[in-house]
Amino acid sequence: SAKSSGRNAVSFFDLTMQTNLTERTNLEAALRQGIAQDQLKLYIQPQMKQDCTVYGGEVLVRWQHPTLGLLSPDKFIPLAEETDLIIPMGNWVLTAACKLLKQFSQDEHLKHFSLSVNVSVKQLHLADFVEQVQSTLLETGAPASQLMLEITESGLIDNMADSIRKMERLTKLGVRFSLDDFGTGYSSLSYLKKLPLTQVKIDQSFVRGIHFDANDAAIVRSIIALASAMHLQVTAEGVENREQLEYLQALGCDSYQGYLLGRPAPWQSVIQQLRDCHFKLLTAENNPSTV
Ligand code: C2E
Ligand code: MG
Ligand code: MG
Ligand code: MG
Repeated sequence: SAKSSGRNAVSFFDLTMQTNLTERTNLEAALRQGIAQDQLKLYIQPQMKQDCTVYGGEVLVRWQHPTLGLLSPDKFIPLAEETDLIIPMGNWVLTAACKLLKQFSQDEHLKHFSLSVNVSVKQLHLADFVEQVQSTLLETGAPASQLMLEITESGLIDNMADSIRKMERLTKLGVRFSLDDFGTGYSSLSYLKKLPLTQVKIDQSFVRGIHFDANDAAIVRSIIALASAMHLQVTAEGVENREQLEYLQALGCDSYQGYLLGRPAPWQSVIQQLRDCHFKLLTAENNPSTV
């Protein structure tokens, strides 16, 4: 009857949920262990200025899972955010990035190379976030001036005053801030005014069609005009081809990141490419403006 098949449907549904819950619990336990056992890997994607010199890179985490292989962030960041594992994970990434910055600072060839690290709003809203970043900088000996923290609009609104206070304190230490995925969140324009930012990153969804979609082009043109009026650097993410790059250059975008220049790669291989002069590196001589 309809009634019994309904009941069967319910128990089948319960069973599916149970399986998902078990899978999630397993993944959570595995991630907790993975963070403790250094299974996280730092990937870096190079970033370049208008004149095509590489000035730095974005740190993008990967998880080398013992049986599932190399996992990209979309497979584990949402879970990490839900379970607060994003906090130990974020600490691990920041510490690893600062150790690299210390290493770069002692290398004549790499001392101008800066790193952008993604920071979750959950990290930013920790009571001792400023102290944590400060002690990481002190313990690793990394130059604060080479560290940029990327934050997204989503979540900032919950506690705007707290975000601003912490960002201002970190700015005093020399750390810079970038607003990631700009244009995809809410009330974007008010953030630009209120937050102590150095840079705005145009989301890749607007860059994709810039050379053929009039709406994308209009949005990007407006972001660049607005940011430059507010003395903010603008960087475009997701630049995959020459047409997009040339269009962005013509609009006066300050810097670029995307598959055209390079995909995210293990940090060791990016450093090797920099040493081999695979990329034209930013130096004091060819620095067109201060970064
Ligand atoms: P995001 O910060 O906006 O990073 C840019 C994403 O776009 C990266 O994906 C990158 O691989 C991808 N990308 C770069 N260039 C291109 C391109 O030309 N074309 C296309 N189609 N994609 C491109 P990924 O590495 O999978 O990272 C995804 C997101 O995961 C990041 O977005 C960031 O929100 C988050 N994430 C990554 N690492 C961390 C981390 O250490 N901490 C936190 N909190 N979040 C992280
Ligand atoms: Mg980012
Ligand atoms: Mg982004
Ligand atoms: Mg993104």
